[in-house]
Amino acid sequence: MKKVTKAAALVLAMAMMMSMLVACGNDAGAATGGTLTFGTNAEFPPFEFVASNGVIDQYDGIDMAIAKQIAEENGMTAAIENMEFDSLLIALSNGQIDAVIAGMTVTEERLEAVDFSTPYYTATQVMIVKEDSDIASAADMADKKICVIQGYTGETCVQEMGYSYEAFKKGTEAVLELVNGKCDVVVIDSATAQKYVGDNEGLKIVEDASAFESEEYAIAVKKGNTELLDKINKAIEAKLADGTISELSAKYIDESGE
Ligand code: GLN
Repeated sequence: MKKVTKAAALVLAMAMMMSMLVACGNDAGAATGGTLTFGTNAEFPPFEFVASNGVIDQYDGIDMAIAKQIAEENGMTAAIENMEFDSLLIALSNGQIDAVIAGMTVTEERLEAVDFSTPYYTATQVMIVKEDSDIASAADMADKKICVIQGYTGETCVQEMGYSYEAFKKGTEAVLELVNGKCDVVVIDSATAQKYVGDNEGLKIVEDASAFESEEYAIAVKKGNTELLDKINKAIEAKLADGTISELSAKYIDESGE
């Protein structure tokens, strides 16, 4: 199962937009000042979500803690721009943000548009179903109502399986649809699924490792921004080596409750 077929047209459209933006000479996002601006979509617990007091303003989660540390280690302050997941790579390309940290899976089509850091987390797509569901594998979704989140790798997976589905803007919306019995299964990343199952009665996770390949989350920077990428990679590699990232993951995944 490859995630390569996701809208070649999107890549083309982005390439066209980028060439237009380059023509405008807009490169305001270069990380030369005191602020390192990360784009995210704060609808993806435990990686990014809105909380009453987050690690960066109202934003909390594994990614937010990592972003803050990366900025601080480079003598900068982290700022967050919260936007739709689908807008992140465009905002990066046009210089509105310096980097994207959004539980974003490295895929071949995204690599056409941006550069990715060393991966910091391994995930997989899973299926959230009602506790009494007879769905036991991805193939069982064939005649079911499937919900995905627009632009997530889960959408690509379901598309490649050839199943029809309904796409929602937010994970919470898709899960609500499932809770209300309006769909049979939500395909979404593992740790986020765990969080939603913990938050809602009567749901369970079904895994199918033969149908969903593992995915790696990494931070994206504008193509060719090696200066920032080197800084990010140094920080990420140190945090992987000294256990900071696994500690953060454990902390936020535990907090998600079960
Ligand atoms: N990992 C998934 C993707 O990259 C979902 C990411 C997210 O929703 N933040 O598409």
